[in-house]
Amino acid sequence: MISGGGKCNFTNKFVSPDHYLSKNPHFCKSALARLKPDDVLAAFKNAGIPFSEREDGKFFANSAENVRNHLLSRAKKAGALFRFKEDILNLEPLNAGFRISCKTQTVNAAKVLVSTGSPACPAAGGNSFGFKLAKKLSINVIAPEPALVPLRFPENPLVDFSGLAGISLDVKIKCSKKSCSAPLLFTHKGISGPAVLTVSLYHDGAAPLSIDFFPEGSLAAHLKTLKENKDKRKISSVLCDFFPQRLALRFAALLPDEKKSAPLAEIPDKLFFKLENTLKNFPFPFAGTEGFEKAEVAKGGIDTKEINSATMESERVPGLYFSGEVLDVTGEVGGYNLHWAWASGTAAAFGVLKSLR
Ligand SMILES: Cc1cc2nc3c(=O)[nH]c(=O)nc-3n(C[C@H](O)[C@H](O)[C@H](O)COP(=O)(O)OP(=O)(O)OC[C@H]3O[C@@H](n4cnc5c(N)ncnc54)[C@H](O)[C@@H]3O)c2cc1C
Repeated sequence: MISGGGKCNFTNKFVSPDHYLSKNPHFCKSALARLKPDDVLAAFKNAGIPFSEREDGKFFANSAENVRNHLLSRAKKAGALFRFKEDILNLEPLNAGFRISCKTQTVNAAKVLVSTGSPACPAAGGNSFGFKLAKKLSINVIAPEPALVPLRFPENPLVDFSGLAGISLDVKIKCSKKSCSAPLLFTHKGISGPAVLTVSLYHDGAAPLSIDFFPEGSLAAHLKTLKENKDKRKISSVLCDFFPQRLALRFAALLPDEKKSAPLAEIPDKLFFKLENTLKNFPFPFAGTEGFEKAEVAKGGIDTKEINSATMESERVPGLYFSGEVLDVTGEVGGYNLHWAWASGTAAAFGVLKSLR
């Protein structure tokens, strides 16, 4: 279980299939209906794990370590045995059950649940084991791609983006399939932050994105009012009222040379509207992502068309179950992916129990 910043955004009150991407959009419905955000909150409350609600329905535990420790101790109490630092190298279906081969031992199991995650964030152990295993067993895998991932700057952006790292502001970003209003963060190599990460999930990997740097109201109307009120400042200073200073100066540079540092009074209204139009529909050609290294998740994964949505059991290999990120179900930023891990894991657990009865 991986979560950022030492905290753990473990669920979201708006969990619903609309916040998940999959080639088979109906697949997640059954598991999400079985385990709702309130069930997860109740479980955390019963476990005595402090948590709080933040913006956009996100629930954070005070410490990811607490969550991990609680899960470990509950599993141990239920009789689970752990083998840490013992990678599974192979899994082989037998006439009845499976043989699991590790480096130092071999284990036979009647049922196997694969929840090996994805290649996202290899520094934290992300790898493609689950996909390789699936392919070996002739289970279809939808090619994984980095998602919830920063995007690289295009080669010739409309304004010079260098030197803006650390600046964060509220924007609205649109790609062909989704628009998202949330903060954008400039990095050394590109753009990140919740708005960008969310759009990276839905982006087709080719079409240009469009960024609205002034999502609330009309910049031109504000500038006109200031001009009418005889504001004596230069446009570059006035733009600092609306944007972080370093960015405001880059935006001022979009004006014709003779107007870039002119006082507001000398700038015709039509240039205000032209600037507004550019900033509200700022083209951001797609120039690639920062890859699995920087991705929080992978989109794609085990094709759910051959997985039972109520039990997570493979139809092709009975007795083999999948849960979590290894499946082709990927959530948006905001606790949706951990919720999917809980929900699909719960469905799989009930599926295994039912089949053993
Ligand atoms: C930096 C970061 C921050 C994130 N923050 C959040 C967040 O706050 N909220 C949220 O909802 N989501 C977050 N996510 C996404 C979320 O962590 C994952 O979607 C979720 O953990 C997936 O759970 P999982 O159990 O399917 O896989 P994982 O949590 O990836 O666990 C897979 C496990 O399988 C093990 N494994 C793999 N191969 C083998 C093998 N061959 N043998 C033995 N073990 C193996 C791995 O070591 C790993 O421990 C974040 C992801 C990252 C990278």
